[in-house]
This record gives sequence, structure tokens and C-alpha cells, in this order.
Amino acid sequence: AIESEQGREIIFRSKLPDIYIPKHLPLHAYCFQNLQEHGSRPCLINAPTGAVYTYFDVDATARKVASGLNRVGVRQGEVIMILLPNCPEFVFAFLGASYRGAMATAANPFFTPAEIAKQAKASNAKVLITQASYYEKVKELEVKVVFVDSCPAEAGDGEDHIHFSQLIEESGEMEEVEIRGDDVVALPYSSGTTGLPKGVMLTHKGLVTSIAQQVDGENPNLYYHCEDTILCVLPLFHIYSLNSVLLCGLRAKATILLMPKFEIKALLGLVHKHRVTIAPVVPPIVLAIAKSPDLTNYDLSSIRVLKSGGAPLGKELEDTLRAKFPNAKLGQGYGMTEAGPVLTMSLAFAKEAMDVKAGACGTVVRNAGMKIVDPETAISLPRNHAGEICIRGDQIMKGYLNDREATERTIDKEGWLHTGDIGYIDDDDELFIVDRLKELIKYKGFQVAPAELEALLLTHPTISDAAVVPMKDEAAGEVPVAFVVRSNGFTHTTEDEIKQFISKQVVFYKRINRVFFIDAIPKSPSGKILRKDLRAKLAAAPSSA
Ligand code: AMP
Repeated sequence: AIESEQGREIIFRSKLPDIYIPKHLPLHAYCFQNLQEHGSRPCLINAPTGAVYTYFDVDATARKVASGLNRVGVRQGEVIMILLPNCPEFVFAFLGASYRGAMATAANPFFTPAEIAKQAKASNAKVLITQASYYEKVKELEVKVVFVDSCPAEAGDGEDHIHFSQLIEESGEMEEVEIRGDDVVALPYSSGTTGLPKGVMLTHKGLVTSIAQQVDGENPNLYYHCEDTILCVLPLFHIYSLNSVLLCGLRAKATILLMPKFEIKALLGLVHKHRVTIAPVVPPIVLAIAKSPDLTNYDLSSIRVLKSGGAPLGKELEDTLRAKFPNAKLGQGYGMTEAGPVLTMSLAFAKEAMDVKAGACGTVVRNAGMKIVDPETAISLPRNHAGEICIRGDQIMKGYLNDREATERTIDKEGWLHTGDIGYIDDDDELFIVDRLKELIKYKGFQVAPAELEALLLTHPTISDAAVVPMKDEAAGEVPVAFVVRSNGFTHTTEDEIKQFISKQVVFYKRINRVFFIDAIPKSPSGKILRKDLRAKLAAAPSSA
């Protein structure tokens, strides 16, 4: 039965049968299983240079990174930070950390120095792997820095930095580390349902489970095979790309094409040149593809899977794309960093593909349970009733780093992770997301945490209170806008002044799009911002709010 009643609980499961998952394997061992059989196949292609790395190359380099990390003093259980665009060294560094029994936290290279420093400090990173062009941003950090391209002259001759070639120079193989399934391997940052960004502890067992739920078994939910070339344009610092593009690709022995930044013509050119078969994207890239006047100049017929995730994809846009790629399987996946991240995946991508509806986010992955609960009463709801989406399974996070309270708020005593997303499951087991209960704003799939911007706004000398909410935007999906209360007597503070004050301190997608001045921020008796009221104000009159 897809739906089972356990007491009063209504739990939804995949239409596909559960599978065996080798949860005892460390992540790297799982990804490189049976290496001898396929080691000479192409694993990575670095798009800017065309350089190809085989599975043997990638495995060998990752092992060298592990021993290099050991040599520079990274102990088991410690953290390395990666600040890089998509490139082979990102992959080597991440897998090297896994071999070392260390954790990797990756940050957006576009972050400001303050944003980078916050994550480096919170995660207690010992080593930073980056490139010379980011030197100015990272020079104040108290970490050992490894530059993957060249050591910048300004960095001098000190011992606080080395070149990647020094990290991987041979000095005897490190002894294999004993890793438990419960050990953390990836530490992405996410604000979850509320508050500031927090370190999300994803374990070896969790990631192995998540990857297996997607690509393992006789009839994988997400069918990747060794002849596939997978486009990796989504940034690897986000778990969607790390898990569902890179790690799933490795498990399937496919070839992963690394593209450091999104640019529509370059993307189309690469698909044409490398005969890309799998294109995992986000809605803004779908939009760019659908609107591109250059589409007919390239042969894109190799694409057999076009998968969108990370943010809602409108039905109309999905239909437009379907008309342009009649031979490709089209559908969505739904993820959340804390959920490991994949909760649902379109069954259009299964080896034995099924028909799916436009606008659906997929069906819950195998070896997991999903329920939809009434946010007020916490009672689980039947089909076709919208409520908060909850997920349970070995793939979800172990918790937030050093934040028990936030962990307990997100994962309940029965092990259900509460997503803060509102949706319903229809008669065909397909999930439709209809709203977001949580604070999170998503700009082109990137996270913007209102609490972070509110805290910055409150440091402005003329602002006495502030609240940040999402506003709909065609290109970005959502943009952050602020409601601001000026301190007594400071009526001269302008919208531009506030916008600039924030822009200087944050990465581009967290910039405040509009500022609305109001007399008081609406709050509940307990002092919680009534975001719904502010969102309603925007929806009613977006130009003046
Ligand atoms: P992140 O942790 O950055 O992956 O963000 C997770 C959030 O993105 C989810 O909780 C959803 O609100 C949103 N999201 C991800 N995938 C989808 C999707 N396919 N449709 C709608 N929203 C999505």
C-alpha cells in the first residue's frame, strides 16, 4: 500500500519498491565501488580547458588530498572549507575530506569577506581550499590556505598557505581511516525554517542513502548510466549539485561536465559539443533556455533528461520547455538541504518511466516515508489536502552543528523532519508544493535568510525595527524586500541609503529590492513578526505596500 495507517498517521511511500542500501560504506567507498571495472572511464571534464580525468585519476587524487590534509594537521572529524567555482579541485577536495574522515563545508565564492568569515568561524574550519582571485576576501582568516591555481604574490612566503600541488605531493599513502556511518562528511549552511544560516550535518550514511534512493536498484528513480554525460553547471557548494549531480553521477559511473559559471550561450554550446544527456537545472536556467533565441543554432537532441529543482517551476514554463524538447524526459525534484536533500523525484526519470503531471514535484523517494500534517493540529492529512510536508528516513541530516534547539525544532521525537513547505499529494502519489510556511526566501534557488538581513538592518543607526519578506519576481522567483521603522526624528533616511547600506555587506542575491517605511512591524503577542500580514500587504499593493 502506498498509504498506510499507523495509528492515526497517514504515511505516503514511493510507488517503487524499497531497495538494499549499503549504509555501512563510507561515502567515497560507495561512490568508487568496483573501481577496477570502470576506472579508466572518463569521470570529470573541466569545460574551460577540456581536460579529462578518469575515475582512477579522481580516486587517486582524492586519496592524495586526504594524506595532504593529514600532513597539514587536519584531524579526523575536523572541518575544511572549500571556496571555489565548479572545477576538478573542488571534487578532489571534497572527496579527499571524505577519505580523511573530515568534513567539508563549501561556501559561495561570491560571498563578501564577512559572510565567508562567519561560515569559516562557525564551522571552525582548519584549512581553506580556494583560488588566487579570492585572496583579498580570505586574507584575514586564521586558517591554512591552499590555492588551487597559483599562490598570489601578495600572500608572501609565509607558512600559512601552500599550493594544491604541495598538498597532493606524494609522501606515502595515509593509513585508511575508520569511518562510522554516523560521521559527518558534508556541512552545507542553511537557515532551514527560521533564523540564521546553520551548519547542516550530513553523514556518510545519510548521503549514501540519499544517492541510493535516487540512482540505485534495478529500476532507479533517477536513471543515470555510465554512458551519460551530466551537465554540472549548478554550483557544487549547494547540496543539490553536490549530491544529485556530482555524487549521483559518480555512483552511476557517468561523466560529469564541470562548468564554472552559468552563461546561456556557453551552456548550449557545451551541450552541443559534449553531447550532454542529463541537464539538472533550476527554474531561472529553464527560463533562460526557454527564452533563448539561440536554441536552434545548437544540436541539443542528445538531452534525454531535463530536471528542475531548488525552487518552484511554473506549469506554463514546464509546458513551454516540453514543446522545445519533445524527446527529453522533463520533471522536477524537490529538495531541502536538511532533508539530505532529496525528498521527492519525478518518476518520469525512472528507468521504467511513468507519466507525470506538469507542475508536480515528484513522488517521495524509496526507503522513506512522507506525511502531510495540519500545521495547527499536527494531525496527518489524507490525499489532496494541503499541509506541512514532513519526511523521515536515513537520508535526513543528523542535526544542526552546535544547535540542539534548532535541531529539535526541525526534527521531532519520532524522527520526522518538518520542512516548512506546504503541499499536497494527489491520487497518483505526486506532490504539489503550494506555499512556504517558513521564513526562507529563494532568489534563483539561492537561500536568503530574512533573519540575517533583519539583523543587519537593525545595525543601521536610524532604523528601530525591520522585517524582511519575499516579493514575487519574474526572473528571480523571489526577491527580498524590507519593511522598516525609522527611529524617532530620522525621517530623512531614504530607501536608497538603506539599500546601499545592505548591498555593501552581502552577496548580490541578498540585496534588498525595495524598502517600505511603516510605523510598526506587525507582531504576535509573543513578539514574532507576522510575516503573513506583510506578505499580504505586498500582494495587495506591491508598488506601495
Ligand atoms: P535549499 O535548502 O537551499 O535546497 O532550499 C530548500 C527549499 O527550496 C525547500 O524547502 C523549498 O521551499 C524550495 N524548493 C526546493 N525544490 C523545490 C521545488 N521543486 N519546488 C518548489 N520549491 C522547492
